[in-house]
Order: sequence, then structure tokens, then C-alpha cells
Amino acid sequence: MPDQKSPSDWIREELRFLKQNDLLRKRTTRESPPVAGLVQIDGRQFINFGSNDYLGVAASQELVLAVQNSVSQLGVGTGASALVNGRGTIHRRLEEEIARFEKCEDSLLFPTGYAANIGVISCLVGKGDVIYSDALNHASIIDGCRLSGAKIVVYPHNNIDVLSSLMRESEQYARKLIVTDGLFSMDGDIAKLHSLCELADSHHAMLVVDEAHATGVFGSDGRGCCELLDVEDKVTAKIGTLSKAVGCIGGFVAGKKEFIEFVFNRARSQIFSTAIPEINACAAIEALKIIQNQPQKRQRLHAVSKRVRTEINGLGLDSGTSQSHIIPIIFGDSKSVLKAAEKLRNEGIFVPAIRPPSVPENQARLRISLCADHTPEQVDILLKTLAKT
Ligand code: PMP
Repeated sequence: MPDQKSPSDWIREELRFLKQNDLLRKRTTRESPPVAGLVQIDGRQFINFGSNDYLGVAASQELVLAVQNSVSQLGVGTGASALVNGRGTIHRRLEEEIARFEKCEDSLLFPTGYAANIGVISCLVGKGDVIYSDALNHASIIDGCRLSGAKIVVYPHNNIDVLSSLMRESEQYARKLIVTDGLFSMDGDIAKLHSLCELADSHHAMLVVDEAHATGVFGSDGRGCCELLDVEDKVTAKIGTLSKAVGCIGGFVAGKKEFIEFVFNRARSQIFSTAIPEINACAAIEALKIIQNQPQKRQRLHAVSKRVRTEINGLGLDSGTSQSHIIPIIFGDSKSVLKAAEKLRNEGIFVPAIRPPSVPENQARLRISLCADHTPEQVDILLKTLAKT
């Protein structure tokens, strides 16, 4: 009898392909809290430039105490989706806090930011509708667009002229949606929200902005790029995550009451997935207080970001279009970026190597994430080491 082949043998081939093309990811384990300073990963100590805990709150005393003080009363799991009976009083309080913080009528929690994007986008549009999506939008936006069944028109990154001419052909569609990251997650640049608002207005389109990397960081009160560019009253809704500057886990959408009620009824990733732990919601409420009461944290982050961007450009490295605390160094091919990341690790610095499909082909890069708690000495070490790379 010929050798019986397993129906899953193709997986070995796929893995071989990934390895040959420097695209195979390996699981690493962090063995210390996720702070901006020293972290231990797989038994080695590094200065961490790979965390989205931009304000250094994830392991802060305030958040730890919020969890400690509530866990014996609230327990851990929530046992059901928010729609069934997973929604507790703390969830509702957090939604009210988010709405107040975001200066919106209401907000709705999701299990993650990913779930918020796929859930919101896919319930706003469907067959017969059109979405205009920036080419560098996050994967969760892309997946939400695909799930919706609407016609997807991808416009070149931040290219308003092209978007404008594409939208001239939008009359055949019933509903129209423009969707964009506020701050782009792999390039650290800001969406041209003024122009997007004008286009949305003139074409009677909805505009949804994902503020995942900007919440807590941009705007004088920390509400993100829409606040920074003063367009908050012009966007249909803002999507956010609790997993980055808020230091917890979960996602949300904020907007008008009617909008939120609709999304609550229709967003499948909210309806069919279990609610976040309430202890996590307690921690998020604390984090929102920090964001509102300690603007010095984001001011420190902006200062360190400006310094790093300036010095990296001075070294002749290609940091693309970054305007923020997310600073890429673009190498192009995956092999070179893996080599550079390994060199940095050998000097005790952790900067993630980002490869396709997280970025387009030939756009592999180091992605430096700065946090308010990085010390000048840690930044000195990063810059000195980069100068030798
Ligand atoms: N939007 C953007 C722009 C992101 O970068 C991310 C996470 N990397 C998400 C949404 C998803 O957020 P979460 O991690 O909470 O699922």
C-alpha cells in the first residue's frame, strides 16, 4: 500500500515556505511585568522598546490596587456575553466613563479592539454599500471591511487626491463609509482627518476613526487624533482599545446614543463573545483617571519621541513619515530587519522586527515604541546602539 498521506501534510510545506522566506514567527515568553524599562524575555534581560503601554500604567500601583480591591467581590470571569448576562455594573460604569472622557453621548465595550473594529464596520455596511479604507489601516479594520460584504475601495495611504477622485464614483452605492486609523500603527503618522471629514461631508459618507494608538497620547486631554485635529464633532464614531495607553484589555466604540444602540444590537463580535472581566474594567476606570489627571505623562512621551525621531534621522536611518511615539526604521527585506533586531538584542535592547503581512512586501522594519517611562539613559543606549547598526 502506498504511504498514506495525512490531509494536513501541507502544513509542513507552509512552515518550510515561511522559514525559507524569513517570515516564520517564533513564540517568545516574557518573564517579567510588561514595563517600558527592563524586561526579561526567554531568560535574557532587555530594555523594552516593544510595548504599547505608552503611559506606563499597565503594571502601575493604581491599576494593581484597583484589581486587588475588587477581585474578591467580583471574581474573575464574566460567564456570558454582555448581551446575555455578562454585563455587570462596572462594565456600565466604564462605558459611562468612556463616554464622558470621549465627550460622546454613549459608548459600548467589546472584548478587544480587534473585536470592536470587525464588529462595528461589519454592521454599518453590507452588500450594495461601499467602504473607503486607507491602504495602511490595521488588520482588524481590513478584516471588518471583508466581513461586511460591502465593496472595498482601498486608497493609497493618506492620499486625499486619489480618495477624492475615487469617491466621485460612489453615487451607485447606498451607504458609504470612510474608515481610517487615527495614528497609523506601523508608521506612526497621523491621518489627514480634516480632509477626510470634508470628503465624508460632501459625499454623505460616514467616517469612523480607530484611535487605538492615539488614545491617552494625542490631544491636550488625551482623546486622540480627532481631538488633536479638532474634528471630534465631525466623525460618526471613534473606535478605541483599552490595551495600549489604557494598560488593560478590551475595546470600545464611542458615538451618538442611537448609533451605540444600533451597534449593540448588530455587532456580532460583541453579541457572540464573552464580556471582559469586571476587574479589568475597574483597572480601566483607574487608567482613564490617570490619562485625564496626569497630562505630564503624555508630555514626557512627546518630548522623548521628538528626541528619538530627530536623532534617528540625524543618523541617516529611514524613519518614514513618523510623527509620534511609534518610530519605524525601514529596512525593506525581512532578512536585514531580523539581523538588525538580533544585533540590538545582543546589546540588551528589544525592538520588534515587523515583517509582512503586518506591513506591505519590502517594507520590513524595526518598530520602536516609546513610553513615557523610558529614561534618558535608556534612550541614549538605544540611539548609541542604532548608530552602530
Ligand atoms: N486597531 C489598531 C490600529 C491596532 O494597532 C490594534 C492592535 N494592535 C487594534 C486595533 C486591536 O486592538 P486590541 O489589541 O485591543 O485587539
